[in-house]
Amino acid sequence: MKKYILSLAVLMAWLGAFDAVATTFDVAEIPVITTVMNNGPTGNRINIVFLSEAYTASQKEIYFSDVRIAVEEMFKYSPYKEYKKYFNVQAIWVPSKDSLLSVIDYGQTPKTYFGQWGGLGYDTEKIHTTVKSFFGGSDKLVIDLLIGDEKGSAGGGQSDDPFIIGFASVPTGRVRHDTFYTKEIFADMNTHEFTHAFAGLADEYSGLVALKPGVEDIEISWPFRETPPNVTTEKNRDSVKWKHWIIPSVPVPTPSSASYADKIGLFEGAGSFSGGLYKPKQFCAMGKYHPEIERMHSLCEVCRENVVKTIYKYIDPTAEFTSDVGENTTIFTVNPPQPTDHSLSVVWKVDGEVVARNTNTFPVTDTEIGYGRHKLRMEIVDSTEFVRYDPDKLLVNYKEWDVVSLPLPDFTGDGTVDFEDFFRFADHFGQDVTTTEVQKYDLDWDGKISFGDFFLFADQFGDRL
Ligand SMILES: [Zn+2]
Repeated sequence: MKKYILSLAVLMAWLGAFDAVATTFDVAEIPVITTVMNNGPTGNRINIVFLSEAYTASQKEIYFSDVRIAVEEMFKYSPYKEYKKYFNVQAIWVPSKDSLLSVIDYGQTPKTYFGQWGGLGYDTEKIHTTVKSFFGGSDKLVIDLLIGDEKGSAGGGQSDDPFIIGFASVPTGRVRHDTFYTKEIFADMNTHEFTHAFAGLADEYSGLVALKPGVEDIEISWPFRETPPNVTTEKNRDSVKWKHWIIPSVPVPTPSSASYADKIGLFEGAGSFSGGLYKPKQFCAMGKYHPEIERMHSLCEVCRENVVKTIYKYIDPTAEFTSDVGENTTIFTVNPPQPTDHSLSVVWKVDGEVVARNTNTFPVTDTEIGYGRHKLRMEIVDSTEFVRYDPDKLLVNYKEWDVVSLPLPDFTGDGTVDFEDFFRFADHFGQDVTTTEVQKYDLDWDGKISFGDFFLFADQFGDRL
């Protein structure tokens, strides 16, 4: 009898637990997005998207505070600092049922929204679906999964999804639970992981094992789309991919000694290999540091160069322009995002000749440009000192327009565009331009008197000088 009562109590407790679980899942988990930093249209900015993971409903403020710290610290590092205007930051908030720490003592699997549990085991599909519900297909995103407390994991890599540039999973191990790890250290790690994900740069620290001889750079590219630009197996000075940063007095390979501490060279031990793989500098944010005694190092010259080049793979500084068409003047205006340490050079050319420079506005006036068909070119060049080698001309962007400037089609010279002029036009309709006499009927300067010219003529019918 006693045994029966005990079982009933267990059953009731179990029912109670079930009820509690059911209630918990009734709480709506609808992701909401908040703009943290807005520097321009999402279609022409790199959009960093933070996601809350393993933050419980009561930790919402902590999440947004973590995001703010991560962003603040990241934009203290060059070249993110100088190129801040090229980035937007958004934060998606969705609560998890559990924090990771809350259940670890019980040996249970925590219920987190994106399924993070140790390692890199998150639900990638759910992450992508959630993020995509807030953005358009032409937006360029770097997803940053911010993990709420201990047992988070580090990692960053590039994505095969053209909509998503990269994925950074941010370590938060012992961020709030160990006196060692401060918010700034967590933010530094975020910057390091973000740089992996965004620019495809490899780790510049070494590990315990050496790279096998004969392994080519292409084989060490995982988890990046291309071979990372900051590590190499190449030891020949003239073939090292960052040779343009190595001054002649630095030997190649370069001894890892104090005398070369601030030099770019070829230092052995990178990509978590102790040997066989080389890096450009002894100290870099992509390399090793001791968080308990120092802040993360700056990104090295080679990493900075590649971050800036990556920015221009996604951002077109000529994209944000307007043309205001007036009676005799069309005003072209461009508003590129600007680095903070120097200005982009904006040059306007007509038929290959420079007609204006360092102005964002250029008025095209019929009389000044001269009658006929012209090629207007707006060229925006970033001559930042961060970039020394740009064979693909990523830092040179331009837009071109065909500009046709028209005389008044008053062929008879009586001051009015009337039927007399139309009859003369009709006489030449269908002809190719072979003489200067015929040229004046070719209003759009395409070499033929055709319907294009007829419409231009009709536009001005009835006009007077
Ligand atoms: Zn570096």
